[in-house]
Amino acid sequence: MSTDSSSPVLVWFRDDHRLSDNPALAAAAATGSQVLCFYVFDEESKGIRRLGGAARWWLHGSLKSLNDALEQAGLRLLLLRGSALEAVDTVVQATGASAIYWNRRYGAAEIAVDSAIKARLADRGIKAHSFNGRLLHEPWEITNQAGRPFQVFTPYLRAVNARSIQPPLPAARRLLGGVWARSILDQAVPLTELGLEPSAPDWAGGMRQVWQRGEHAAQARLSRFVETGLKGYAERRDRPSQEGSSRLSPHLRFGEISPRQVWHSVMNAVAAEPSLGLDAEKFLSEIAWRDFTYQLLHYYPHLPDRPHSSRFDNFPWNQDQNALKAWQRGLTGYPIVDAGMRQLWQTGWMHNRVRMITASFLVKHLLTDWRQGEAWFWNTLVDADPANNAFSWQWISGSGPDSAPFHRIFNPVTQGEKFDPKGDYIRTFVPELSRLPPAFIHKPWEASPTILREAGIDLGETYPEPIVPHGPARGRALEAFRSLRDME
Ligand code: FAD
Repeated sequence: MSTDSSSPVLVWFRDDHRLSDNPALAAAAATGSQVLCFYVFDEESKGIRRLGGAARWWLHGSLKSLNDALEQAGLRLLLLRGSALEAVDTVVQATGASAIYWNRRYGAAEIAVDSAIKARLADRGIKAHSFNGRLLHEPWEITNQAGRPFQVFTPYLRAVNARSIQPPLPAARRLLGGVWARSILDQAVPLTELGLEPSAPDWAGGMRQVWQRGEHAAQARLSRFVETGLKGYAERRDRPSQEGSSRLSPHLRFGEISPRQVWHSVMNAVAAEPSLGLDAEKFLSEIAWRDFTYQLLHYYPHLPDRPHSSRFDNFPWNQDQNALKAWQRGLTGYPIVDAGMRQLWQTGWMHNRVRMITASFLVKHLLTDWRQGEAWFWNTLVDADPANNAFSWQWISGSGPDSAPFHRIFNPVTQGEKFDPKGDYIRTFVPELSRLPPAFIHKPWEASPTILREAGIDLGETYPEPIVPHGPARGRALEAFRSLRDME
C-alpha cells in the first residue's frame, strides 16, 4: 500500500482498542508515514446507540489504557467528541492527511456513518482503508449454498470449521508518530471530560474490584484461561459459583483482544496438549457464536429493537412496572434469579447460565417484553454488545432466528439445584440466605419456620416471597404463547 509519505496517515480507533492484531494500525504503520491516532466519542450521529452506564465505565479505562500503550509506542490518542462525520472532516483538514485507516463496524447506523464519511473523503481525494479487526470472518464471507446468511448456528459452525482462521498480526512496537496541529489540539477533549466514570455517587466500586481494563489485562486473562481454565471448560462453564469461563467478554466487546488471537492461542494450547481438544472445541464454538450474532445483526439490523419473527409483533406483554423493578433489583423471591441480577448490578457481568435463567424469568414468568430486559442488560453489562445481547434476548424469547422455542421455560428452582447444587453462588450474592441449608437455598418458601428462624430469615421481610408462583406463571406463559400460535 503506498501513500504520499510526506503527509501523515490517520488511524481512527473504534472498539478495537489494542495495538496487537490491529489490521488498520498495522497497515497505517506499513506506509512508513507519520501515524496520527484518534477516537471520536459520538453520541450525535443518527441511530448510534448511547452506551449504558457500565459500558461507559469500561470505555474510560479502555481508552486510557490504549492511550498509555500508544504513548509507549511513540504516539498519542487524540479524543474528540461529536458527530463522527464532522470530527473526521476536522481531523483530515487540520492534518492534511493523505489516507485514513479503520477497522470495520457491522451495525446499520455505524455502516451509514462510515459510508457517508467515505463518500466525503472520496470527494476530497482521500482514501479510506478499512479492515476486519473484529470477527473471525465477516458476515458476507460465510453464507449457505444459496449465498444467503445462515439462520441456524450448527451449519454456520460447520462452515466456520471448514475454513482457516488468519493468524493474528504482531503488535506494532515503535510507530512513527506525527505531531497534531495546534488547531486540532484545541478541539481535543480530556478523557475525564467525557464523563464516562461515575462520580457522585460512585457506583463503580464493585466493578473496579473485579475487572482490569485494557489490552494488557485482556492478554493476561487469556493466558490465565488457556493455562488453567480451558481444561474442564465444557463442564465448568455451567457452574456460576466457579470461574469456569474465560470472562473475556468485555475485552472482546471493546476490541482489547481479537477473536483471532483467542482462537490461535487456544489452538496452540491444543497442539501442545491434545487432551484439551473437547474443551477447546466447546470454547471455540462460543467464539463462533459471537461471529454468528454479528452476521445476524448485519443482515437483520432491527435485531435489537424488533422481534425477528413478526408473530411476536402483537404479543400480549405484561406492563407491570413493579414486577420489572423487582427483577432489576434482584428481589423476585427466586434465589438464582436474584443472585444473577445482583451479580450484574455489583460487577457489571453475569454468568451465562444465569443470564439465560434471569432472561427466561423476565420474559416467561413475568411476561415482560424482552426489549425491557435487553435495555436493562445494555445499561448494566460491561460487555453489553449490540449483536450478542440483542440476539440472546430474542433467542430466549423465541422470537429470534434459531431460537429456543417459547414453550421452553427455565424452572428457576431446578436450574439452581442443578447448576449451583450447594448454593455457593446464592450465598455470595444473596447473603441474607447464606445460612440456609442446600436443600432449601433455591426454594426458601419450602423451609419450615424453624429452619427459616435458625437461618435468620423472616420470609416476606428479610427476603421476598416469590413474586409469582412457578406453576401458574408457567401456565400463563403457555396460554399467551398459544394465542400467538392461533394467529398463524
Ligand atoms: P466464555 O464462555 O468464556 O466464552 C468466550 C466468548 O465467546 C465470550 O466472551 C463471548 O464473546 C462469546 N460467547 C460466549 N457465549 C456466547 C453466546 N451465547 N452468544 C454469543 N457469544 C458468546 N455476551 C456478550 O458478549 N455481550 C452481551 O451483551 C451478552 N448479552 C447476553 C444476554 C443474554 C440474555 C444471554 C443469555 C447471553 C448474553 N451474552 C452476551 C452471551 C454470554 O452470556 C456471554 O458472552 C458470556 O457469559 C461471557 O462470559 P465469558 O467471556 O466468560 O464467556
